[in-house]
Amino acid sequence: MSKSWRPATQLVHGGTTRSQHAETSEAIFLTQGFVYESSEAAEARFKGETDGFIYARYGSPTNDMFERRMCLLEGAEEGRAMASGMAAVAAAILCQVKAGDHIVAARALFGSCRYIVETLAPKYGVECTLVDGRDLANWEKAIQKNTKVFFLESPTNPTLEVVDIAGVARLANQIGAKVVVDNVFATPMFQKPLELGAHVVVYSATKHIDGQGRCLGGIVLSDKQWIEESLQDYFRHTGPAMSPFNAWTLLKGIETLPLRVRQQTENAARVADFLASHPKVERVIYPGRKDHPQADIVAKQMSGGSTLVCLHLKGGKEAAFTFQNSLEIVEISNNLGDAKSLITHPGTTTHKNLTDEARAELGISPGTIRFSAGIEDGDDLLADFAQALDKVKA
Ligand SMILES: *Cc1c(COP(=O)(O)O)cnc(C)c1O
Repeated sequence: MSKSWRPATQLVHGGTTRSQHAETSEAIFLTQGFVYESSEAAEARFKGETDGFIYARYGSPTNDMFERRMCLLEGAEEGRAMASGMAAVAAAILCQVKAGDHIVAARALFGSCRYIVETLAPKYGVECTLVDGRDLANWEKAIQKNTKVFFLESPTNPTLEVVDIAGVARLANQIGAKVVVDNVFATPMFQKPLELGAHVVVYSATKHIDGQGRCLGGIVLSDKQWIEESLQDYFRHTGPAMSPFNAWTLLKGIETLPLRVRQQTENAARVADFLASHPKVERVIYPGRKDHPQADIVAKQMSGGSTLVCLHLKGGKEAAFTFQNSLEIVEISNNLGDAKSLITHPGTTTHKNLTDEARAELGISPGTIRFSAGIEDGDDLLADFAQALDKVKA
């Protein structure tokens, strides 16, 4: 096992431990507890004098393999696997604040993430300021004496705006606050928030990490000190632990992450280029195209484009619905990062709970559509987009 292996190698071999049977594939340990050789051994384990597992809510062998492998990929010291992406986001934020603290977050957030900072945290006396995260000056202006956490996603859902992660980290370091980055849209292949100065990275493993639509999962990654001092007790005692079955599914899923993300990105880039010159399309936003509104920041912090494309159709909701309903390969689904190409109309699904004004602020119009590229043949996808756009009234 070597820390210097490149991601594709790490994702197949990293973190593997084998039982006495020396199985090829990672084993799944469906066990709640662990037995001790003696009372003294149990005592020593509870005192932390010996390594080993205590109870599956704290940690277990299959989850441990998944955590180690993700740490090797991310360049993190420690990670904690959780039952869903939202369990991970909630833990990463709530474990480190108390009543009287203040959070600054980008307003362009996944709906449930926005609920955590905008609605849930204030119930417990933690204030939150939402900002337009594209401009660093807004982050700086929002800082208060009690600011403890900065939270952001980049690229954002669904309009694929980006936030200057290194810039936000510099501001946070000046006041001793922590930066938590939800890195789902970038994937661990294309963006390394810890290297950019962020303190904590979270994933919904439900997306590209599983990548095959099977199970929910999440993970929080950081340095050893933060995990032990801020997250450990919250994690052990509130119980968001991932099922070992899901940890096993995800371990097998990430073996093919680089292959899938490469094919998805190639497909997404081709679709974006095709749509950009199509007369029924008002605008395409794709990190990786030169006309992305923040192409300079994309180039600075991302090593690849995106598996997602945001498009605005002329003709509003009617055009968007006709287009989606006419697609034959691409399925209508609010999920993303899957091997199957998926498409969603954010205004009536993922972002339906926002006010018209909040949607407009985020750049979501009635003609806005989010496309998540799968691993199908790109020529077939382009043909599907072309025939579906033909059905949209000009
Ligand atoms: C899906 C998603 C989440 C939530 O993950 P779940 O696994 O569905 O709980 C959080 N953040 C982003 C950006 C997501 O896309």
